[in-house]
Amino acid sequence: MTAALGIFGVHRAVTDGELMMEGVSLNNVAERFGTPCFVYSKAALTTAFQRLDGALKSVRKNRPYLICYAVKANSNLAVLRLFAELGAGFDIVSGGELKRALMAGGKARKIVFSGLGKTAAEMEMALRANIKCFNVESESELERLNEVAARLGMKARISLRVNPDVDAKTHPYISTGLKNNKFGVAFDRAMDVYRRAAALPHIQVVGVDCHIGSQLTDDAPLQEAMGRIVALSDALARENITVRHICPGGGIGITYKDEGTIDLDVYARALEASLGNRNVELLLEPGRVLVGNAGVLVSRVEYVKPTDSKNFLVIDAAMNDLIRPSLYQAHHEVVMTGPLRAATAERIYDVVGPVCESADVLAHERTLAAHEGDVVAILSVGAYSFVMSSNYNSRPRAAEVMIDGNNAALIRERETFDDLVRLERLQTS
Ligand SMILES: *Cc1c(COP(=O)(O)O)cnc(C)c1O
Repeated sequence: MTAALGIFGVHRAVTDGELMMEGVSLNNVAERFGTPCFVYSKAALTTAFQRLDGALKSVRKNRPYLICYAVKANSNLAVLRLFAELGAGFDIVSGGELKRALMAGGKARKIVFSGLGKTAAEMEMALRANIKCFNVESESELERLNEVAARLGMKARISLRVNPDVDAKTHPYISTGLKNNKFGVAFDRAMDVYRRAAALPHIQVVGVDCHIGSQLTDDAPLQEAMGRIVALSDALARENITVRHICPGGGIGITYKDEGTIDLDVYARALEASLGNRNVELLLEPGRVLVGNAGVLVSRVEYVKPTDSKNFLVIDAAMNDLIRPSLYQAHHEVVMTGPLRAATAERIYDVVGPVCESADVLAHERTLAAHEGDVVAILSVGAYSFVMSSNYNSRPRAAEVMIDGNNAALIRERETFDDLVRLERLQTS
């Protein structure tokens, strides 16, 4: 292990070294709910939210701010409900996420709607719900939103997602703020698009936002982007287009292995310094940092498979459950849940799933002491993990469990074969 287990939301029992989440043994979770199974810590989720909230709160007493949790990172209703209870708003990217956020108790006046492909039906749904703001990503979208709002006799509150052309220096698949990217409105087009927005009868300009990428471990690019959108808000004010909020998006990274992370107090102070005495609300759209380290994927070892060139640990979780290693070469720590037995030999394993793809490797070259039937925990899978899972190879999606103290609650049932074929028809005519 390269970092203390604590930051991953788990620890070892002092008695026998069994891996615990809060007061619950992960072996017991595996027995009770089966494997593979995603397990989240309510305490770790709460702590992550409160750390960011505390950093923003302490930086300046009278600065209004709102944390809009990016629902796409982990959209389980129980997770959303927890954040809603903690006072979070939500950043959504689809009509489905809007329904989830509302169903979980989220307040429409705290919901912002991002995404570059909003359909007219999604716009209508969000207008009827009376959400806080649409983060508009193109000129065509602006025109369409104006038309949909006109049809409903409403005014849509908007912010333009501008593309500040800042290199987030993260993996290209999760970098979103460069010129050649599909997201947002180019920075040098932004003034014109805002002028157009201000002239449209069913549009009300309320904000400026950007989002330059994900898993950032250095806050310099975030601060640079913030500087640019604050300058844009000043330029808008000079033309009597006043914004009520400014949002530098999400993107705060977490520790998967040994990465340093952004100091939230430093980041909050830097954002406040950019805002100065401007009378605006600060919005953030964090996803990963609120959930990533609060979840583990519990899986059972099916086979120990030595070969001439490599040892494989074949487990019952696969790339359909956790695609991040295959998709982004992401690193996740893998630990045996124990109890730790002295007699077991350590070997170097590639930890693989049963899916028929060579890319189905969850972890490369890990030193583990494993037997068939043992349970492993793959760490830091609270974000972009279950939500990206699929049924590839006709594998039912895993169960999700929430730990709260000594209690473990099922928050999503394991899918069954019937779920997999429910929408299919044998007849073709
Ligand atoms: C995905 C996304 C976020 C959240 O990103 P994280 O890196 O998980 O914090 C925020 N805003 C927008 C527009 C997004 O698309």
